[in-house]
Amino acid sequence: MTTVTLIYGDGIGKEVVGATKKIIDATGVKINWEVCEAGADVFKRGIASGVPEETLESIKRTRLVLKGPLETPVGHGEKSANVTLRKLFETYANVRPVREFPGIETPYKGRHIDFVIVRENVEDLYAGIEHMQTPGVAQTLKLITRKGCEKIVHFAFELAKAEGRKTVHCATKANIMKFSEGMLKRAFEDVAKQYPDIESKHIIVDNCAHQLVRTPEAFDVIVTTNMNGDILSDLGSGLVGGLGFAPGANLGSDIAIFEAVHGSAPLFAVKNVINPIAVLLSGVMMLRHISEFEAAYTIEQAVLATLEDGVYTEDVKKDAGAVSTTDFTDAIIERFGRTSEAWAKRDYKKIKMTTLAPDRDYVKTQTRQAVGLDIFLETTQDVEVLGADLKAMIADMPLTLKMIGSRGVKVFPSVGGLLPDMVDHCRARFLRSDDQEMDQPLCLDLLKRIGEKYTWMHIERLNVFDGDNGFSKAQGED
Ligand code: NAP
Repeated sequence: MTTVTLIYGDGIGKEVVGATKKIIDATGVKINWEVCEAGADVFKRGIASGVPEETLESIKRTRLVLKGPLETPVGHGEKSANVTLRKLFETYANVRPVREFPGIETPYKGRHIDFVIVRENVEDLYAGIEHMQTPGVAQTLKLITRKGCEKIVHFAFELAKAEGRKTVHCATKANIMKFSEGMLKRAFEDVAKQYPDIESKHIIVDNCAHQLVRTPEAFDVIVTTNMNGDILSDLGSGLVGGLGFAPGANLGSDIAIFEAVHGSAPLFAVKNVINPIAVLLSGVMMLRHISEFEAAYTIEQAVLATLEDGVYTEDVKKDAGAVSTTDFTDAIIERFGRTSEAWAKRDYKKIKMTTLAPDRDYVKTQTRQAVGLDIFLETTQDVEVLGADLKAMIADMPLTLKMIGSRGVKVFPSVGGLLPDMVDHCRARFLRSDDQEMDQPLCLDLLKRIGEKYTWMHIERLNVFDGDNGFSKAQGED
């Protein structure tokens, strides 16, 4: 018997998770459901993570979660309980299948849409590392690791293998963010060589959005960074009928959390009208994860048969004739054993989770040298005066002031006398004028001198790894 941590969640959670539990139980698969709490009531009790200790203990034990949506309090300070769960348990792969459903009217009807978005789930802008650098300037750090990229790319290819899919697209914004988004592109190109039977293609993410709207049937698997994946997967659910039809899974090496893409839809709660398909198909993904392939197939086919018979919930059928969530649930169970031609039968296998070297210094270099320092200043000083001041401060140091930048654009020395719309925030770039190391004592001396006249709030060491600059140039910087 498999034990699963079951979290009903908030809003419509009780109805959609309740329906899913009833349908899974009806297949005869033996599951011991360990019901646990998370979400709104937990926040109200003053637990800032929204996830109590008992729930964490249960997940550590069962390593399998089926959950409903959790409300995120809108305010300052509270973190999303969903994000907490995904991160605490390092469920680095967010899987969101997008498939056309029979009988659901969309502009794409008959196009046989059938692709999976594999979204990196723990890094990127969603690491939540944010600072107000000045009262009017905010910063969010976009941290992307080579190890995280390799893990998600391996996962995407392994998913393609497990589901018999032929192509993996990697969608990035590597043309602009050459280091962070470029990290995923480079990892993709390297890892793809280990999967010669699967076609690999890189696509710029904005073009990917465009192509998904024009020819969604051309996609099979799309692997992408966290925020890109968040946006593309909602686009995907829009193609096939909306959030009521968008299942999902968060998978890590050890723990798997299955949940729909949608939230708690509070307006629909306790009305017995909501569509349970998204959570139910998340449950189907869970059944495949525990190798209950037959039960998964039975449910999936019964869902298709129910829709083919014109039995819908209110989100699909606005007029009278829509059935309640509970009647829809029973209608699916009544159709166990029916099969549908709507979805090509796949020979699903369990997805292999690739294990990478555990080294914390995952990428090793032959050589590395710190060659300079970027210092971020809060100032409204005229840039010519600021430039002259900073130059005077380093006159007796082995440093040059390479440039001053404002919002990514070089403003000193000025480019053709043009200045962008300046704010109280700039970056001064210092480079060593000899080939020695920009060591800590020199950095500290520089910060001390600048701090005597200006307010600095952020620094960034400039490194060269194996001969390659580990920092970008400002617009206009030579
Ligand atoms: P939402 O709950 O997903 O609802 C947005 C709209 O999508 C709903 O008003 C609804 O109606 C439609 N919808 C959602 N689920 C549906 C279903 N099962 N069947 C049919 N239609 C469905 O998004 P939200 O209102 O932005 O968020 C509400 C709360 O949920 C927030 O606190 C948010 O933080 C949280 N949330 C949690 C998760 C999670 O737990 N993973 C994910 C997202 C949001 P119409 O389209 O008819 O208007």
